[in-house]
Amino acid sequence: MPDDIKIFEPACRLTKLPPYLFVEVDRMKKEAIARGEDIINLGVGDPDTPTPGIVIDVMKKALEDTENHQYPFGEGKENFRKSIKKFMKERFSLSFDSEKQIHTLIGSKEGIAHLPLAFVNKSDIVLVPEPAYPVYNSASIFAGGRPYFMPLTEDNGFLPDYDSIPASVLDGAKIMFINYPNNPTGASATEEFYEKTVHIAKKHSIIVASDAAYSELYYSEKPPSFLQFKGAMDVGIEFHSLSKTFSMTGWRVGWACGNEHIVEGLASVKNNTDSGVFGAVQDAAAVALDNYAELAEETRRVYGSRVKIMSEALKEASWRLDEPLATFYIWAKPPVDINSGEAVKKIISEAGIVCTPGSGFGPSGEGFVRFAATRNEERIRDAVERLKKIDWQ
Ligand SMILES: *Cc1c(COP(=O)(O)O)cnc(C)c1O
Repeated sequence: MPDDIKIFEPACRLTKLPPYLFVEVDRMKKEAIARGEDIINLGVGDPDTPTPGIVIDVMKKALEDTENHQYPFGEGKENFRKSIKKFMKERFSLSFDSEKQIHTLIGSKEGIAHLPLAFVNKSDIVLVPEPAYPVYNSASIFAGGRPYFMPLTEDNGFLPDYDSIPASVLDGAKIMFINYPNNPTGASATEEFYEKTVHIAKKHSIIVASDAAYSELYYSEKPPSFLQFKGAMDVGIEFHSLSKTFSMTGWRVGWACGNEHIVEGLASVKNNTDSGVFGAVQDAAAVALDNYAELAEETRRVYGSRVKIMSEALKEASWRLDEPLATFYIWAKPPVDINSGEAVKKIISEAGIVCTPGSGFGPSGEGFVRFAATRNEERIRDAVERLKKIDWQ
């Protein structure tokens, strides 16, 4: 092999990506641990609570089922899709054809990442909120699309302002991503917002990809599904996840449901990419969903309490925030106006707490810090005591 390293040069689609946020935060965390500090990690949105016992018990038995040792069908096992169908009916009063309108995913992230490949041609616009989960942007870039960012600001209740988007952009858009309850802002959507979303999507022929990863982590009103709104099923696909609701981030299982043509497009990409979710994981996921009423209630109890403790203590310490009514994220501004990155560095170095700079989720996140309430109450209390001691002047 000659010294020519050109063969290892990454493709443009990789060089176009912004640095993956959590990698940077992780580096800062490791440096603090290397300094020998007791670090409280409120950085990544990964539940610290274990997967419920009944789910694990089913998984153990499902391992012995030899049917599960073979390739799973891409769309998912019949029992799992039946459980999904039942959940969507009970929780959102939505009816689906479980053959054509439901497809299992290797976690909702996987489906979100593959959707643009099914519908976006080179230079098509993808409407991407910011600050946001980074995958909407990277998936759009991978598919050759052009992300157009929709700022989520405090003034707009962290909802996109469709009126500020030029008509030419809307006409050139193929997909729009929305995510409520929202990561990182903790905001929820209003009914008017969803109605307007359907209207815009129909008028400009845009697929609406709704990320509902936090639909069950609410502490006030139950968040609706986007698909419940009149006309939404004509333009929408929704991504659901078991990860946060049932503390199953490591299991990699979720589903997409919605308009059959959109689901079919996503399925075509997946059928040429992966071979579905391990059957035993689907059996376990089905049981989680069948028991969602009690299991999700417990999740809300645990995270709701933490979020409340943390929000109240931060307010006492002169942080600026609204207590989130859903998700396990606290989206807050420090007591003085300070750049997000500087704030996080100060918090890590002076308080030993890992959190995420708001600007890492997009420019409109500048000035904010995101705390994930993914440590137990005792640690959350320790964290707020430490935060109170930081001198911001
Ligand atoms: C955690 C998260 C997901 C990913 O969930 P998986 O099902 O584990 O892939 C998707 N969207 C948002 C906004 C998230 O925070």
